[in-house]
Amino acid sequence: MTAQALPPLREVIAAHGLAADKRLGQHFLLDLNLTAKIARLCGDLPGSVAIEVGPGPGGLTRALLAEGASRVVAIEKDPRFAPALAEINDAFDGRLSIIEADALKIGREALGIEAGARAVIAANLPYNVGTALYTGWLEAEPVWWSRAVLMFQKEVAERIVARTGENAYGRLAILTAARAKARYAFTLPARAFTPPPKVDSAVVVIDPLPDAQRFGDVEALSAITASAFGQRRKTLRKSLAQAASQTRASAEELLASCGIDPGARAETIAPDGFMALAKAWRAARS
Ligand code: SAM
Repeated sequence: MTAQALPPLREVIAAHGLAADKRLGQHFLLDLNLTAKIARLCGDLPGSVAIEVGPGPGGLTRALLAEGASRVVAIEKDPRFAPALAEINDAFDGRLSIIEADALKIGREALGIEAGARAVIAANLPYNVGTALYTGWLEAEPVWWSRAVLMFQKEVAERIVARTGENAYGRLAILTAARAKARYAFTLPARAFTPPPKVDSAVVVIDPLPDAQRFGDVEALSAITASAFGQRRKTLRKSLAQAASQTRASAEELLASCGIDPGARAETIAPDGFMALAKAWRAARS
């Protein structure tokens, strides 16, 4: 079968009896214009390997292959999609590899990405594991992907791109800023999916920062932001007491060494301030 002869996704779902399983966050994107729009956000796909989490019936998978990805490696937990995905592989000259697994348990090695290959991550992420996968990719060192184009619940996308002082600003925005540049691409209403989820979704484009600019000590940054945002309404003098208790310094001393007002609240401090605090926290532990 050729790529043009592949049946519409609705027919594939009906023919293979692929009723959506809510426990696996299955909400399918069947509009090929939208899947093509997501694939185009991946940038230069010819010459790239695309890693897709949760291909389901394969809408985005087809788009990634049609846009010229040299290979798509798709990780899918639900084995029911295997026959539909095998048809796509046939139609695209064997450029699709399927790994039947839980993406949370799959490391870079299992993806078989050759050293030096340009790998792009593209996914309409299952809601229940999307944030955990995203932070895992952000924290991975060395960084093995050159761009990630990811669909999240809109509220999660807003937390990723939030600026200092905004309601959505918190740990996710700070970790993102420490490791990457993130851009909110577009919103998809719930009705764009089959079956529709309860909330709207949004696509974000994430580009890792160059090695020299990435903040390396994610453990320290996590300890500081967990403490600071765990008690969001309190002043940093109080909220950082928990992180400071793991060091020789007091919260006041950590803050003073970074030139941060102890009476300030976490949401008013830019990512740079948290990175400075993470460094001070690490130094005060050694
Ligand atoms: N990519 C398809 C689309 O856009 O129509 C399906 C997206 S659906 C939101 C999420 C997909 O992720 C489902 O196919 C689901 O089976 C799969 N999935 C859920 N949890 C997973 C996990 N832990 N590892 C791999 N795939 C998972």
